[in-house]
Amino acid sequence: MTGHVTLIGGGPGPSDLITLRAARALNTADVVCYDRLGPTNDLPDLAPQAELIDVGKLPGHHRVPQDAINNLLITKARTGLHVARLKGGDPFVFGRGGEEINALTHAGIPVSIIPGITSAIAVPQSVGIPVTHRGISHAFTVLSGHNPPDNDQLHHLAHLNTTLIILMGMSTLATTVTGLLAHGMAPTTPTAIIERGFHTSQRTTRAPLDTLIEQAHLRRCTSPATIVIGDVVTALTDWVTTIDPPLLAPLTPPTPARGVA
Ligand code: SAH
Repeated sequence: MTGHVTLIGGGPGPSDLITLRAARALNTADVVCYDRLGPTNDLPDLAPQAELIDVGKLPGHHRVPQDAINNLLITKARTGLHVARLKGGDPFVFGRGGEEINALTHAGIPVSIIPGITSAIAVPQSVGIPVTHRGISHAFTVLSGHNPPDNDQLHHLAHLNTTLIILMGMSTLATTVTGLLAHGMAPTTPTAIIERGFHTSQRTTRAPLDTLIEQAHLRRCTSPATIVIGDVVTALTDWVTTIDPPLLAPLTPPTPARGVA
């Protein structure tokens, strides 16, 4: 009897940021194949009966090749097991969830999918940055730093006047920021780098676009981090100060939000 695979979005880290549906699926899983991000620390509680297999990847060092992960999921499911494939955030946001679904479907394995809270939205939110805000930004674009925008895209992005969110963007930060400035994005555009969102070591660096590279270097910002570029970064500055003043202790003062009615 063939088992099945549940592809699960694990959210940005804490186990209370997964959905009830995800918690139920993990609770009945026989095997959990998990990544580096997501609620990995709490897996023994979330999936008490399951064999736990770390198939996580470190940036630049693909520890377990994607083919091997696909094969593992197929092999385990073929023995009749309920295999949970747990990913950080949402499985369809740079999570290669679609590739795994294709591989499993081609192998005749039934797959279901459970969405997760993506770090692209939740991590900025955790430090008071809304990805859209009436009168400030009516759209957001989520980019991967692994495939940095080319010149044509940089040109469009620099003139969109909406929110840019970059995941996996630390190693290509300098190229992206330099490109946006070269294509005419305002040097004063507020930006933030939020490292290790929702973890005890979470840290936010805020700076105008033209000093972001320098600030990231000075503060040795590292992955995993979510980068936000746009006026939304300062949209809720007053509120953020009331909840957590240290969040607003950047090396440069925050720029006032533009375009507020
Ligand atoms: N599917 C995931 C994204 C996978 S790409 C999602 O929807 O969230 C991995 C990247 O997401 C990291 O390099 C980082 O840019 C971002 N990321 C994931 N978790 C994060 C966290 N807790 N804090 C900051 N950035 C995070």
